[in-house]
This record gives sequence, structure tokens and C-alpha cells, in this order.
Amino acid sequence: MAVSTCPLRCGAKHSILSAMKRRTLLKTLGIPTILGVGGVFAYSRRANARSFYYEGPPSDHFDGVRFFLPGQTRDKTQAELWSWRMAGGKQVWPASFASPFQDRPPGGLRNGLRVTLIGHASFLIQAAGQNILVDPVYSERASPFAFAGPKRVNAPGIAFSNLPRIDHILITHNHYDHMDMATLRRLAAEHPGAKILVPLGNDAILAAAGITLSIAARDWGEAQPLSTDITAHLVPAKHWSARGLFDRRHALWCGFVLETPAGIVHICGDTGYHQPLFTSIREKFGAPRLSLIPIGAYEPRWFMRDQHVDPQDAVNILLDCGAKAAIGCHWGTFQLTDEAAESPAEELAGELVKRGIGADRFVAFRPGQVWEG
Ligand SMILES: [Zn+2]
Ligand SMILES: [Zn+2]
Repeated sequence: MAVSTCPLRCGAKHSILSAMKRRTLLKTLGIPTILGVGGVFAYSRRANARSFYYEGPPSDHFDGVRFFLPGQTRDKTQAELWSWRMAGGKQVWPASFASPFQDRPPGGLRNGLRVTLIGHASFLIQAAGQNILVDPVYSERASPFAFAGPKRVNAPGIAFSNLPRIDHILITHNHYDHMDMATLRRLAAEHPGAKILVPLGNDAILAAAGITLSIAARDWGEAQPLSTDITAHLVPAKHWSARGLFDRRHALWCGFVLETPAGIVHICGDTGYHQPLFTSIREKFGAPRLSLIPIGAYEPRWFMRDQHVDPQDAVNILLDCGAKAAIGCHWGTFQLTDEAAESPAEELAGELVKRGIGADRFVAFRPGQVWEG
């Protein structure tokens, strides 16, 4: 097995079957394997020796090579991936699922809180004079490949040229629908003062990809001041990470809690449901003013349950953390899994009625939609 630079553009040198052409590789292992929904990974001798991205002592969520959530269920197998893909349950999305919204945010916001869904899991958060991007993805595809992989069905809800001066970029994990090198390079060129905050190990991936912005990497439970008024805390999530075929869980993933003068903003990140993760948010930080909660990429449940919540569990998260308001994201822009484009919003609406929760407390946002408070 030859060691070469990863053809999946993850920025690391991996052991890769060098003779495999990229299309054959895709056909054999399946795009979902590396898109953040496949949940399987290939072993190589080197992959079991040490982390590609992080050197540090073992902890209660790092075994010296891979990160894990204590009690985390085992990784999915290739056979399970095949059973999902062969089951034929994938709904057909429309080629275009345009949003009625398009935002032109102000240059900054001194008082209050303004949050725009750019699309999928990409947000602009404005508070206390700071402009903060979360998981910015402006590319046409959430994929390591320009020619294949989930293609966006709606335009970003803020045109790139209409972004205000960006001060901070928070990245929850390295899946392609959250960490997009093309967007980060563009941000580095046009917003050179922006600082990136990532969970452990992801700084090595960004540096290897030539991202020139200042990067800080932190662990679960650690905090990073973003300004004199805003502090970002990294919180655990029930998820995983991978850029290529051999680096599964070699870099950490997380959610964020932002302490701002306008209140607590809770960014779930990708996660399966695990109640203590969310009750602890309320215990540690108080009830969030606003939670950004994923509601999409959940079918089939037998495969997705451990990594992505469905709208029912998203409502559980709302109640566990006690958020006064929530935005439903991670749906309706890139088709990653089997459910129909509109299903997350429909199921969320039904669940809120069933539980007697006002529809305006938890809204499935479309790109360009703005929350102000
Ligand atoms: Zn993910
Ligand atoms: Zn995701």
C-alpha cells in the first residue's frame, strides 16, 4: 500500500490504493462513506498507529488515535452501508428548492442578536459588534469532488459579496457539508482578519490545505474568547469526523455555546440524540436564548440514528436545553440521506403540534431567513 497525498483533498498524507482511479474508488466505497453520512471507514496499518491530525495525551474521549463520545456505539460497517444504499428508499429531491428569502445583513450589530441561515448548517451570527460565521459552505457541492456528490438546490441566503467583515469562523467538524476549503480560501482572501476556531485536530487539516487565517483548536469543555464581550465554549456532540477513507474520528467534532451580551446562543452541530449532552447545556450555561438545531439527514433511522437527530429528537433537544427559541437547520439544501426535501419541516411542525409547543418557538429556517432578538 503506497503512502501518498490523499486524493480526497483532505490535506493529509494517507495510505491509499494508488492504482484506484477516483471513479472506481467512489463506485467501490460509495460517496456516502466520505461525506459524513456513510459512517464506515477503511482500515490501514498506519491509521491504527496514531492520529493523522492530533498529538496529545489520551483522555476520556481520545484513545491516542481516535476521538469518541464515552459510551459511543460502534462504527457502522461497510455491509450496513451497502444495505442502506441498496434498499432504494431514497426520495427524489427537486433540482431546485429555492428559498423565498435573501438577506443583506448590516455591517455590524452593537445591541441585540441577529442570526441568518445562509443554508444547510452555515450561519451568520451578529452580536456585540462581532460578525461570526458558522460552518460556511458556499460551494456548489458538499463533496471532496467538483464532479460528484450532493449538489445544492438553493443559493446561499447571503451572497458572498454581501457578507459583512467577518471576525470569526467557527467550524464544528470536518465533514464536507461543514468544512469547505474553497469557501475558507475565499474568506481568507477577502476577510484576512477573520480567526478560525475548530475542535482539536482540525487545525492540522486547515493548515495542510493552505488556509492562511489564524486558527485556534480547542477541546470539549474549553473556551475561547472571541472578543471582550463574547466567549465561545466547545461542547460535546454525538457524531464523528472524516475527510478521507482512513481518518475516521482522527479529528474532534463539537457543538458551540456562545456567551454574548444578548444571551446564550447554542450551536448543536451535527449530533445524534443523547439527553445528557443537552440538559448539561442548561445546567452549565443557563437556558439558551437561541439554539441552532439540526432537523435533517435522518433517514433511514436504523443507520442515521447514532449520528443525526430527526425532528422528534430535535424537539427533545429544545426541551432538554430549555432554549427560548430555536432554528431548524441542516435540511433542504444538500440531499445527504433518504428523506424528501420538505419532510424535516413537515415533521417538525407536526411534532410541535403534538407536544403543544408554539410553532414560532422552533422554526425550520430557509436560506436567507433571519432571526432577530
Ligand atoms: Zn457531520
Ligand atoms: Zn452535516
